[in-house]
Amino acid sequence: MATRWELAFTEAEKKSIISAYRRLLRACEDFLNKAGKAELRRAFRFAIEQHGDMRRRSGEPYILHPLAVALILVREIGLKDLSAVIAALLHDVVEDTETDIETIRTQFGDKVAMLVDGLTKITRVQSPLESVQAETFRKILLTMADDIRVALIKLADRLHNLRTLSGLKPEKQAKILAETEYIYVPIAHRLGLYAIKAELEDLILFYREPEKYEEIARKLQETARERDKYIQKFIEPIVQRLQNELPVPFKVESRIKSISSIYQKMKRQGVPFEEVYDIFAVRFILDSPPSTEKADCWRAYSIITSLYRPNLQRLRDWISHPKPTGYEALHITVMGPEGRWVEVQIRSRRMHEAAEYGLVAHWRYKDNQNGHSSAYDEALERWLSRIRSLLENPDLPTVDLLSELHLDIAQEEVYVFTPKGELKVMPAGSTALDFAYEIHSEIGRHAIAAKINGRPVLLNTPLQNADQVEIITSERAEPSEEQLSFVKTARARLKIREYLKQQRKQAIERGKAIFEWRLRHMGIRQDDPMIRELLWYLRLPSLEELWYRLGKHTIDLTRIQDFMRLKRLSQGNTPIIDQLSQQLGLLSGAVEVGHNEEKHTYAACCQPIPFDAIMGYVTSEGLIIHRTTCKEIQRLLSLDSSKVRTLRWIATPQKEFVSTLLLEGEDRQGMLLDIVKVISLRKRKNIRSIRIEGQASYFRGFIELYVHNEPDLLSVIRALSEVRGLLRIERYQANP
Ligand code: MN
Repeated sequence: MATRWELAFTEAEKKSIISAYRRLLRACEDFLNKAGKAELRRAFRFAIEQHGDMRRRSGEPYILHPLAVALILVREIGLKDLSAVIAALLHDVVEDTETDIETIRTQFGDKVAMLVDGLTKITRVQSPLESVQAETFRKILLTMADDIRVALIKLADRLHNLRTLSGLKPEKQAKILAETEYIYVPIAHRLGLYAIKAELEDLILFYREPEKYEEIARKLQETARERDKYIQKFIEPIVQRLQNELPVPFKVESRIKSISSIYQKMKRQGVPFEEVYDIFAVRFILDSPPSTEKADCWRAYSIITSLYRPNLQRLRDWISHPKPTGYEALHITVMGPEGRWVEVQIRSRRMHEAAEYGLVAHWRYKDNQNGHSSAYDEALERWLSRIRSLLENPDLPTVDLLSELHLDIAQEEVYVFTPKGELKVMPAGSTALDFAYEIHSEIGRHAIAAKINGRPVLLNTPLQNADQVEIITSERAEPSEEQLSFVKTARARLKIREYLKQQRKQAIERGKAIFEWRLRHMGIRQDDPMIRELLWYLRLPSLEELWYRLGKHTIDLTRIQDFMRLKRLSQGNTPIIDQLSQQLGLLSGAVEVGHNEEKHTYAACCQPIPFDAIMGYVTSEGLIIHRTTCKEIQRLLSLDSSKVRTLRWIATPQKEFVSTLLLEGEDRQGMLLDIVKVISLRKRKNIRSIRIEGQASYFRGFIELYVHNEPDLLSVIRALSEVRGLLRIERYQANP
């Protein structure tokens, strides 16, 4: 009896299906025994029956897609695993046909069912929500952390979809391209599947900017002969000497940069195709056993660099220190014939296969050579466990988690050293504080500054390659909101958030105790309706916020007493709100500071001085004047703008104002004396107080001084900036 698919397809189509299946079978030959092959055939028959007469948008039989995905998985990704191949064949069955996952389980067992289920879940999330990409990414990471094969099949699926994208509408294309760029390229990169990553990127460029793609492809072709000739000339002397002096056979190949990375480079450096100097690299692959591979690579290195002058700045030793992805090789740029820089890569065969097939190659090696542990295993396990721990943390908002993880994956790395010379690899853009958290969360928590290559710097200083970083800690230092604005790694961010959250909890508890004690003292019950009026009076959104502020001492108990006094005045008859507005009536209209007709005080939190931009907050006691940059006035403004006045200075009060400077820098001998000299001798200002804390040659201090106005203060700051080793001079402001 002819089945549905046999009737639906033409002879030519049936032929192409059979030959695709045979290709797959051949690719699996070396790792399948007879039973395995029978199992594969059964899966193929099952898939073809299920998909029946379905066709892809291009019109070809649907079954060609899962067949192609399975082939990519085996041939190009290099995953030689029967369950995974079967799952690839069945990956769209549950999604697109009537078959459910239980049928797959009875037919093909738990392992295959688990993989297919993982793949199906990912597709199902794709709803028309805005955050669908983030959600998809999260799902992929989740399933990947369980079983890496899910991600590999998904990558094969995506690669085939991109290769056959032409049939789709432009909007659909754009969405798939964005998703590929955002989700799949970083995963391929992180799994060390460089060839897959390069092809995905090339395809993205091909669909998005076809002219650019064509142009580079054409130029590559036009220059191919000249390039080959040059490469021959370059390698000839090397090959001769390596043959004589290297104890093992070797292979030379040249590798052309992918079209998209040439394009990226042209764009980034603003140069034409002709000026991209590293379009090709020459690669030497040594057939060494793992026991001597490193020594052999270094021997090849010394032979090559004795023939051509190396640019030592561009030596990358990923043999002693593998990349976080586990990549191992020696890279060096040398001056070749005709004064052209040529990149040379040296690796053993094991390193080469690991680089070409990523972690998958290593599974093969682990089976074959007992016990030889590779950088890939460790790197992958480290990464997956980090993903697991990030995913487990319910406090990290999804979007944050995703963007941070993406940052960790997509960005290049920066290589830095501890004082003991231990290498740490961090995402590019990491700061000294990220480094502190990378060492230990306690070090991050107490970090106050850092020394980079012996020079004291602030914690927000970005790290550069080869920096030696030492963290200076202080028992009194603690994480702050401000730090969140500059840390780059998910780990640091998470730890700081955790700490701030816990601090808030403790402040709330403290504040609650203070408040309840106060209420008891005044004989007020905890459920007295007056408490709501108090919150209104203080412009606070909740009782918890009041406790928090009391606990952190950013609100004064006297303000509660003020309220009670007012309340007593009103004798409980008039609502407090009316009472207040009566008193505030006289303050309507523009208020100008400097005349004495308005009663006003200067807020202690931001210490305004003449000519600062200022605002006033209307209270029963008169105006309280803040700097416009003060968080407190911004908060009041957002809660009740009717009580906030914009002010301007119309006369400078003849008094002196206290202003606080925050100073940080090197704690060298005579530093404090130099600071005091500048302030009191050179600028002739009186100092009210000095508070300094120093730690391991770094100090942080607060100096209160008297100034007349802002230009006056600025001239002090300018003078201080000439003091050697002073790294930070800032006007201090509570609640910045
Ligand atoms: Mn598919």
